[in-house]
Amino acid sequence: MKFYKDHYDVIVIGGGLSGLSSALMLADKGKDVLVLERHNLPGGLATSFVRGGVEIEATLHEMMSIGDPGKRLKIGQFLEDMGVNVDWLDVPEAYHLSVPGIEKTMHPGFERFAREADEVCPGTYQKVLDLLKLCHTVYDSVNELSIHPMSKPAMLMKHEAFVKTAGYSAKEVIDTFGLPQKAVDLLAPYWIYVGAPLSILPFTIWAVLMADYVGYGSKVPRKLSHEMSLKMQERAEEMGVQVELRQPVEKILVRDGKAYGVRTKRGDEIHADYVISAAYPNKVYTSMIEPADAVPDKAIKMVNGRRIGLTAFTVFLLLDKSAEELGITDYNVFLGETMDTDKIFENYKGTGPYNYLTTICLNHANPTCTPEGTCIISITALPCIEGWQQVSADEIDKVKHETAKSMVDAMSKYYGVDLLEHALEVVIETPMTVAHYTGMWNGCIYGYLHSMDDHIVARLQTAEEEHFIDHLEFAGAHQISGNGMGPAVTNGRKAAKNVLDTMAKEAN
Ligand SMILES: Cc1cc2nc3c(=O)[nH]c(=O)nc-3n(C[C@H](O)[C@H](O)[C@H](O)COP(=O)(O)OP(=O)(O)OC[C@H]3O[C@@H](n4cnc5c(N)ncnc54)[C@H](O)[C@@H]3O)c2cc1C
Repeated sequence: MKFYKDHYDVIVIGGGLSGLSSALMLADKGKDVLVLERHNLPGGLATSFVRGGVEIEATLHEMMSIGDPGKRLKIGQFLEDMGVNVDWLDVPEAYHLSVPGIEKTMHPGFERFAREADEVCPGTYQKVLDLLKLCHTVYDSVNELSIHPMSKPAMLMKHEAFVKTAGYSAKEVIDTFGLPQKAVDLLAPYWIYVGAPLSILPFTIWAVLMADYVGYGSKVPRKLSHEMSLKMQERAEEMGVQVELRQPVEKILVRDGKAYGVRTKRGDEIHADYVISAAYPNKVYTSMIEPADAVPDKAIKMVNGRRIGLTAFTVFLLLDKSAEELGITDYNVFLGETMDTDKIFENYKGTGPYNYLTTICLNHANPTCTPEGTCIISITALPCIEGWQQVSADEIDKVKHETAKSMVDAMSKYYGVDLLEHALEVVIETPMTVAHYTGMWNGCIYGYLHSMDDHIVARLQTAEEEHFIDHLEFAGAHQISGNGMGPAVTNGRKAAKNVLDTMAKEAN
């Protein structure tokens, strides 16, 4: 029996959440799909690893847009509609913020969040609530407009708040509320989930983040993020998708300006009407298109012009006592020397010590994720790749350990516990680990940096002219909705929709 069919409707490069979402949506519409994944497991970054006999979440802190049963949000609903039934657990809090002058745990729910902000900054309840409500109005508009685009005049009539704030940064809009700096600081921590300081982060994006995470709270899968990956793969295969692991794609074949298949590292040439790539456009346009001269200059200019977003540096510690015994009381701690996001972003251009850390103790959402009497914490900084690119091969081991040690020391001081003394296992995940494991361009997990001149609204407007090769679509953090597991699903769906729309257009 042949390994591959003579022809597929669509080949998807990459079996991460974005690629699997594309595959599910296309299979649901009866298309014949092949997914080629370079790794020996599906999921990309939605994965786990095993140390000391314990399965450890590799990435996920919290998943947005899931919602409760019967009231699912966008991603939760899509997965349910596709028959991917994930066992979701509630994340018990928004975050604990520990920066000079603030020590406070915040919880989801607009009113509760505003009340908690008021406890720190008396008299701010109404303003914080109004700001969160504005975020929600913009969030509703984004959700509607992403499905039903409309003309500018119609948009202005129906989505006034969205139109009026779309041209401003998060900082500019927050400033109009006249909140004291402490209240702004309390609202700021989630900036790191998109990785652009509030001064350049479009308000639209910050609003979506706040409305979703604060408005509805977040969730994690009981069997870690790999539960999503495995169930998505399983369901895709039930729906007829062929998923092949350990099959890196080296080339995307192009003829007359149109993609018509791929060549794998193993040498298989496989044909399809469409190709969807989760590999970064930078990688695709610089080394994967065959023949190379099928890449228009404009494509190279586009990838060179875009600024790469952040990468990740994480230290995992499996500890020999429960969270309660060690006095680790919060699920998610943002620990900073400052809450000035411009200063943090500057600091993130180096290799550490980092001045802003996000630490998760998964046991607070998922008590049985480690054996009884133990717990797991992950300490993460989200640096720019530039600093790490300067480190030579000879120095990397030393620099990596110094950075990790500084992060563990900072959290030990915060908890008042010598974490290393309690460590059963210590694992360091660097930008190089991410690059090595997923092939992500420069180990970058955040796609392209969101800024006022390059973000979801601007990208929607330029999407058509940035379509350089027919029948080739992209899915991944580098696409319109940006980074994160929820956006990866949305980006995957969007790529599939583009394919389905083109199929329909060309059939007429
Ligand atoms: C430390 C850390 C913490 C994070 N925390 C969160 C969080 O709390 N919440 C959240 O929402 N997101 C989080 N993320 C981000 C999230 O994991 C990613 O944005 C998301 O999983 C990206 O999915 P993707 O499908 O776009 O890319 P990937 O997961 O990278 O998938 C791409 C896949 O394509 C494969 N591939 C690439 N090139 C080829 C090729 N040539 N041939 C075949 N296969 C190929 C790769 O092997 C990979 O499996 C975190 C990431 C990290 C690293």
